[in-house]
Amino acid sequence: MELLPTSLERIEGGIRIAWSDGVTTAYRAGQLQNACPCATCREKKKSGSEDGSGPIALPVLSLAEARPLVIESVRPVGNYAYNVRFSDGQDCGIFTFEYLRELAENELK
Ligand SMILES: [Zn+2]
Repeated sequence: MELLPTSLERIEGGIRIAWSDGVTTAYRAGQLQNACPCATCREKKKSGSEDGSGPIALPVLSLAEARPLVIESVRPVGNYAYNVRFSDGQDCGIFTFEYLRELAENELK
């Protein structure tokens, strides 16, 4: 059976998706942003947690981070994924349905 979202709604701090198999999953804005599967974000994360050979990363709080992160829009991409746009302008991520389900399952553990 193909797994498809049957409903998508905005909840406090994030979104909730109901799936064709009866399961409902919820995501916080920050959780989704951290999990962005695109190459740019994965690369950024990698360089941020390296062995310290690069420039020292001092903690910063950007204006965007100082505001609560909000999911601005969630648009379908084909019939297999969602493109999520965040209030800080990040909209690079294509979250496949499969990946979204994986994220939710990891969160429950
Ligand atoms: Zn990204």
